[in-house]
Amino acid sequence: MSFTASVLTLYPEMFPGALGLSLAGRALEAGTWSLEAIQIRDFATDRHRTVDDTPAGGGAGMVMRADVLARAIDHASPQGDERPRLLMSPRGKPLTQARVRELAAGPGAVILCGRFEGVDQRLIEARGLEEVSIGDFILSGGEPAALVLLDAVVRLLPGVMGNAVSGEEESFENGLLEHPHYTRPQEFEGRQIPEVLTSGNHKKIAAWRRAEAEKLTRERRPDLLAGAQPLVK
Ligand code: SAH
Repeated sequence: MSFTASVLTLYPEMFPGALGLSLAGRALEAGTWSLEAIQIRDFATDRHRTVDDTPAGGGAGMVMRADVLARAIDHASPQGDERPRLLMSPRGKPLTQARVRELAAGPGAVILCGRFEGVDQRLIEARGLEEVSIGDFILSGGEPAALVLLDAVVRLLPGVMGNAVSGEEESFENGLLEHPHYTRPQEFEGRQIPEVLTSGNHKKIAAWRRAEAEKLTRERRPDLLAGAQPLVK
């Protein structure tokens, strides 16, 4: 079974969106993964197809209703569905490459996209939703966050990335940011490609890249260094 994503949203037209192009788009066409976008509004029961209501306790904005969302989730993910149920949420655990790898190794994901002020807390508890954040900023809705998560996952699915090795050397895979890259021309506006990279000495090149990666990580993301793996080779 290929990776199956079910996205619950008020804007199904946003999918597959950017994921219909390039690597992810080709993999979607090839059946390496599949995507269904489900309109939450279809699970409302009143004449106006209402999905939200005013917050208990007062205050600004609207809250997505637990009963409507529960019907949508139960439709997308009936009992026995092994896929994790994710809620895109700025209060969630920040998404990491490690979690992305786990998701890519699994059967898929059911992803709920919030809108307005968010969703009723009882829904999160009753359906065991895992809240996932894509960073410390506020989006207007969970849809772009779901696209980001799926993009990161899909590129790891078997056969999607042409050169699997490039995946393993990337930023975060070994607890380090990646070293800088260069390509032709040899000289650009008076700047040369570092000599070691054109030396043909692969051991020296690996050591240089490792040193650059460590320097960059120390400068920009010292928090990552604790988890860094030693250089093998
Ligand atoms: N009132 C909320 C923000 C709601 S933003 C708060 O202060 O925490 C509306 C929706 O956008 C959220 O329900 C969530 O689904 C999505 N969203 C916003 N920022 C996000 C982020 N950084 N990561 C993941 N989803 C996010």
